[in-house]
Amino acid sequence: MSGMHPCMHCGALNRLPEQARPGTVVCGKCKHQLFEPRPVAIWDEQQFDRLLASPVPVLVDFWAPWCAPCRMLAPELDALARDWVGQLVIAKVNIDEQPALAERFAIRSVPTMMLFRNGALLDSIMGAMPRQALQQRLAPFLARS
Ligand SMILES: [Zn+2]
Repeated sequence: MSGMHPCMHCGALNRLPEQARPGTVVCGKCKHQLFEPRPVAIWDEQQFDRLLASPVPVLVDFWAPWCAPCRMLAPELDALARDWVGQLVIAKVNIDEQPALAERFAIRSVPTMMLFRNGALLDSIMGAMPRQALQQRLAPFLARS
């Protein structure tokens, strides 16, 4: 695993050490944990683009507060973010707050999940999915810990 991963606290790009447990990696600038056991909320397109360029796979959850299946999916994604800290980043895009991103990725229904690594789209999933099915679908893409 090599390449740059952005700190969600200060925005600094960090080179990921080859041999380190993800939970122990801190930002070189602000010293916050680079990987936290919870999903990351996306607040603008620049933050989104920097995160998607990471060598760590990023699962983007396009969701909306009024969407019942999104609310059912949320605790499943929280659990995956906890179990796979440093191996998979889960990024939440509220399409009501980020209409430009929803338009850019042609989101027609929520939830829609898209998996990226190094900026490339690897997989997309329409609709909610039980945790076990999600685990099976995503496991082949995980970064090694
Ligand atoms: Zn930082």
